[in-house]
Amino acid sequence: MPKAKETILEIDLNALDNNYQYLTSKIKPETKVLAVVKAFGYGSDSVVIAKELVELGVDYFAVAYANEGETLRNAKIETPILVLHPLPIHFEVILNRCMEPSIYSWKMLEEFITFAEEKKQINYPIHLKFNTGMNRLGFVESDVPYIVEILSKTESVKVKSAFSHLAASEDLKEKEFTLKQIKSFKKISEVLISKLDYKPLLHCANTSGIINYPEAYFDMVRTGIGLYGFGNDPEENKHLKPVGTLKTIITQIHKVEKGESVGYNRAFIAEKTTLSATLAIGHADGIPRSYGNGKGWVIINGEKAHILGNVCMDMIMVDVTDIDCEEGDEVIVFGPSATAEELSAAINSISYELITAVSQRVKRVICRN
Ligand SMILES: *Cc1c(COP(=O)(O)O)cnc(C)c1O
Repeated sequence: MPKAKETILEIDLNALDNNYQYLTSKIKPETKVLAVVKAFGYGSDSVVIAKELVELGVDYFAVAYANEGETLRNAKIETPILVLHPLPIHFEVILNRCMEPSIYSWKMLEEFITFAEEKKQINYPIHLKFNTGMNRLGFVESDVPYIVEILSKTESVKVKSAFSHLAASEDLKEKEFTLKQIKSFKKISEVLISKLDYKPLLHCANTSGIINYPEAYFDMVRTGIGLYGFGNDPEENKHLKPVGTLKTIITQIHKVEKGESVGYNRAFIAEKTTLSATLAIGHADGIPRSYGNGKGWVIINGEKAHILGNVCMDMIMVDVTDIDCEEGDEVIVFGPSATAEELSAAINSISYELITAVSQRVKRVICRN
């Protein structure tokens, strides 16, 4: 890649290919793969990512909200799309664009059936979400007979899949809890299948589920963060490659004398002569204020430069006193060598939060490294 001349997010499709191959090498050839491309493909570019995944042979996509799926349909992506968190106001677009809702509550089940009947649908695919311990969305085991009873009274919908979500699959200290979740999902699906006269797809593993719990694979796995290069585990990260590299440039360098300050509210006061580099990236681009005052850093010519003072909306200032650099130089915020996982840990956050925060103002550049 040529050096960055402005703030860009490079999206490395070869890294995505590598991650897809690595994650799918763990599962059986017949196990289906659902790629989670919500939140702009974890902050990258959902259309570019989804198109590449179609080439790689992905079976399903999931988005959180219907408008994210609409973006894929507008880009002529025809793969089935599971909408994980639909709301009644989204039913119209879900149906018009052939998306498939996750049905997680009585209200949703009843309202979606009414809607599908009004629209004269036959066997419209729905996905039943079960709560096995996350306590976020989903039916519980004792709901199954009643769900089946309601379903038996309508032809408008058909259960394409039943699924659950693991709450702590990345945390091996919670192994007992996770195994209990898997067991509970297994029981729910057995009861469900015994009462339906067909077998829906079953799925409950997210990325860390793929890595840590083969017993959670069932018919399909759902991977998000792993595709983008993070395995929530140092050993796994060796096999995965971050897809996104966030770059910016130095726009000006200031010599700040002892006693002078840098930025808003004079949050940094120089104790000695300090060289401060102003960068073309701020909290409106995805660097939260909490990285300010030395907590966060960027990489300039291979060296760590810590943030001086408060993060501004459009800029940050970093300490380059001991770094050989000049105005116009490229800066790496995160990427394969300085990972989002490492940087986010500096503020007790996680890779997911940092990568999904890269705002739409930042130009996306597609590459194959
Ligand atoms: C976001 C999400 C996933 C993806 O999880 P990763 O940890 O990113 O692999 C899977 N399933 C559900 C229900 C989700 O909301």
